[in-house]
Amino acid sequence: MKEQTETIVEESLGALLRNKEFLPDLQGSMREQAFTSLSAILSTPNKIHQSFLRVPLDNGSVVRVPSFRVQHNDALGPYKGGIRFHETVNEDEVVNLAFLMTLKNALHDVPFGGGKGGIVLNPREYSVKELNAISRKYVRYFADVIGPDKDIPAPDMGSGEREMDWMMAEYKKIHSGTPYLGSFTGKSVANGGSLGRREATGKGVYFTFRYLFHDFIEANRQWLATSDNPFAASALSVTQRPLTMAVQGFGNVGSVAALEAFNCRKIDHSIVAVSDRNVMLYNESGLNIPALIQFASTNAGDLPTTDEQLQEAQIQAEIRKRDDLVTMDVDILLLAALENQIHEGNMKDVRAKVIVEGANAPTTQEADEYLSKHGVIIVPDILANAGGVIVSYLEWLQGRETQFYSEEEVYRLLIEQMQRTMDTLLPQYFGDPHSLRENCFIHAVSRLSTVLYKQGKLY
Ligand code: NAD
Repeated sequence: MKEQTETIVEESLGALLRNKEFLPDLQGSMREQAFTSLSAILSTPNKIHQSFLRVPLDNGSVVRVPSFRVQHNDALGPYKGGIRFHETVNEDEVVNLAFLMTLKNALHDVPFGGGKGGIVLNPREYSVKELNAISRKYVRYFADVIGPDKDIPAPDMGSGEREMDWMMAEYKKIHSGTPYLGSFTGKSVANGGSLGRREATGKGVYFTFRYLFHDFIEANRQWLATSDNPFAASALSVTQRPLTMAVQGFGNVGSVAALEAFNCRKIDHSIVAVSDRNVMLYNESGLNIPALIQFASTNAGDLPTTDEQLQEAQIQAEIRKRDDLVTMDVDILLLAALENQIHEGNMKDVRAKVIVEGANAPTTQEADEYLSKHGVIIVPDILANAGGVIVSYLEWLQGRETQFYSEEEVYRLLIEQMQRTMDTLLPQYFGDPHSLRENCFIHAVSRLSTVLYKQGKLY
């Protein structure tokens, strides 16, 4: 995963080095030297903090839980990124996710750097009291390096607003008398969290799809029809409606994106399949997404797994094998579960014309290259799933000003930012031979490079 990010960043730097209009003041050996510095700066994190959290358990024993905070780059602002609670967390993964946060913030003009945290545990194996102790210990151990103007954590896989509330309370206790609302984002609204934060990523994910395949294409149909860019033909073929969509993952991101699709009247499409960690549900005429959300909300977030449960909830669907979803005959695959879902082993069986990455890194590098070569349009993670960090920025701003936006204002600001990013990228994407992911990386790397150059960091 880390190699994949590094490779695309190296390629982006190569493209910028060859583009003489980029940083034209840098010439000859100075230019070579500056790009060597850029490569070194971007491929390594500024700091890796590691600790073993010593926590007493309910049974009286004591564990030492490995934990990380990686601060990748702060050229654009304080470090920012979630804390993952998962048993497979490791240093390489956290470094890569922090790197991706640096790029995501640069791409969407969010004035933050990139950071990420991780705690190596399976939260399902700990009591609420133990998780509270672990969350507070994390803040105590990293208290000197986090804060509203240094490094602002948020939830990630396995953590949520409950943990952010606990962590902010601990931060407030340690740094008594200093501003604390901006120390963590993704908090509950009662504790200074932003309205709309929970839905932000899923809404943003669906918006990127809708904007590309409706608004942008409608406005540029003639130009696209005469273009010899292979992605232009693919994009136009997706406008032949009706379309079918399958959604992998039915949590925070997947269920909200599916509901947006269900309610969207601009595109004639139906969601024929959804899956979660247990099951895939299929209905060729389209699934009733609100009913599935209602079911999940009262069943620990899970979809129905038996015909009895489906009947009781009055949901028409067939139960199918979970992992068959990615190779189904659908037009659009929206991936909102885990990383590495489309890989060398199944990429040749993928039949979708569009893949939207709600999850981080659900497509491996080999699969990305193979599918892009075959005209599949992949809307990459750093473009599609940035809604969470964009609204986190709004939450941080609200915390500083102690003035809070309405839900409508939050969604308007979120969509405006995502649209600005898309408007910058899409004409270029359909005008050159790079994939959308490559275009996103070039844009993010060029922004970071310009700032680092102007800050005098490339000598
Ligand atoms: P979540 O825990 O709320 O939901 C995950 C969903 O995936 C659940 O429905 C789970 O049952 C399902 N799932 C797990 N294993 C699966 C499998 N093998 N096949 C199909 N489904 C499976 O998590 P989330 O917040 O929705 O995050 C999903 C992805 O999006 C993660 O990769 C996360 O890093 C990424 N992401 C989330 C946010 C955010 O704001 N929540 C922001 C950016 C990226």
